[in-house]
Amino acid sequence: MGSTKYVFVTGGVTSSLGKGIISASLGRLLQARGYKVTIQKLDPYINVDPGTLNPYEHGECYVTDDGAETDLDLGHYERFLDIKTSQANNVTTGRIYQSVINKERRGDYLGKTVQVIPHITDEIKRRITLLGRKEEYDIIITEIGGTVGDIESLPYIEAVRQLRWDLGVENTVFVHLTLVPYLSASGELKTKPTQHSVKVLLENGIQPDVLVLRAEHELDKDLRKKVALFCNVELEAVIQSIDVSTIYEVPLLMKEEGLDEMVLKKLRLPSDDHPDLKEWREYVERLKSSTTEVRIALVGKYVELFDSYKSIIESLTHAGTMNQVKMVVTCIHSEKIKKENISELLAGYHGILVAPGFGDRGIAGKILSAQYARENQVPFLGICLGLQCAVIEFARNVLGYEDANSTEMTNLTQHPVIDLMEEQKGVTEKGGTMRLGGYACALKKGSRVYKAYKTDMVRERHRHRYEFNNEFLEDFEKHGMISTGINPESGLVEIMEQTGHPWFVGTQFHPEYRSTVLNPHPLFIAFVKAAVENAN
Ligand code: GLN
Repeated sequence: MGSTKYVFVTGGVTSSLGKGIISASLGRLLQARGYKVTIQKLDPYINVDPGTLNPYEHGECYVTDDGAETDLDLGHYERFLDIKTSQANNVTTGRIYQSVINKERRGDYLGKTVQVIPHITDEIKRRITLLGRKEEYDIIITEIGGTVGDIESLPYIEAVRQLRWDLGVENTVFVHLTLVPYLSASGELKTKPTQHSVKVLLENGIQPDVLVLRAEHELDKDLRKKVALFCNVELEAVIQSIDVSTIYEVPLLMKEEGLDEMVLKKLRLPSDDHPDLKEWREYVERLKSSTTEVRIALVGKYVELFDSYKSIIESLTHAGTMNQVKMVVTCIHSEKIKKENISELLAGYHGILVAPGFGDRGIAGKILSAQYARENQVPFLGICLGLQCAVIEFARNVLGYEDANSTEMTNLTQHPVIDLMEEQKGVTEKGGTMRLGGYACALKKGSRVYKAYKTDMVRERHRHRYEFNNEFLEDFEKHGMISTGINPESGLVEIMEQTGHPWFVGTQFHPEYRSTVLNPHPLFIAFVKAAVENAN
């Protein structure tokens, strides 16, 4: 289909308007018309990647199959488009500067003063177009993080302004997302913030082609005309994005608003065929019509920010829809869980999921939750640290090793049932040094996980330094906690499950990074199914 075309998505007025969801929705619509699409995110912070960021700050760290620690928006891209993203799909200012400085030290710019323009902007441009050089795409959507007008976004805005001329006007389109607030006192929707935000873009040399206006109320024709007139865009290019009950409805709304058609028109690409959204529509209908509630307790310590467990919550939603039930996920702070109140706190939940995490804060509550699930026959899924806590619990309360622990928490234990991986022992730097990304896992025939996956070999993504200590495996298996997933090369335990329990599974990997709308994850489906059976 000729050369790759680019969609640049910027945001104005405020952050958290849902640029990621709009980008993913647009991507889904273009893909449904047969275009080969991918999405990338440019993040204007100086961390090389979000791996070193606290989930409170920026939400979950999403991990790609090739082992990149990335922004959570990549999770939306994968879930909406059912594609794999990679290291090249997420670029931060830290990474840009790191490569420019490395080049400078190597002598690549010998004799020159290294500057934001052109050196930083050139590196941004190189990174944006890198994806298209690695693989052939019809359309690449580039989401620029932050809000226009921010100091740190400036080099990105300048880089994409230049790219419009490098690549050709007909090969690029600018989509700008803003907010139209509603003033309840006067009962009015206000367009001024949008006008100002477009002015900021204009000052930086960019005329947006399409405006997506986030609003709580319907935008009437007069308001759209006003925005079109003052922001120099076609009337049909003023698109409304109204609040909806599920993010998965956004592609359907954007279709009604004609976002994809407008983008294709600007890119001089045909839009005669109707997008094939049959499966997507069916999914959304099923999601909205599932009313029987199934309650899951999500035990973690980053519960203040819902985004910290984004992929887990979305995976549960996908699995709920497959099981025709409405998932009600309640985050419970593990630090609040004590022996005295656990039966009260966890009463009424049909399944318990113990979340991933780092460090020993809140660990006691996670261990108690695993014990509660084991003793009360409540379906249990432990992910990464969640598995490790279930292992510690079993060692202490079933095997009788009172001091059993993970060496992440203490070295003063005779029973390090979870221990630092061999390859991690010499590692001193924190950034990007965990066991990351996709690894194979061989499943034991007849196990619960084998029944769920219906295959004996899978590939799942990881993000950890500690691991089940194989010295204790025999002891565990003798007492009913068995390893049912193993990495074929290293022999590392990837899955443990308990026999004599309706459904008790812990995974060292993160299944949540692989669940998509059209391909919900088998383990989540099986876990939710067990919760449904428990509810009945
Ligand atoms: N802190 C644990 C480890 O590094 C678990 C990590 C996780 O839950 N992602 O092994």
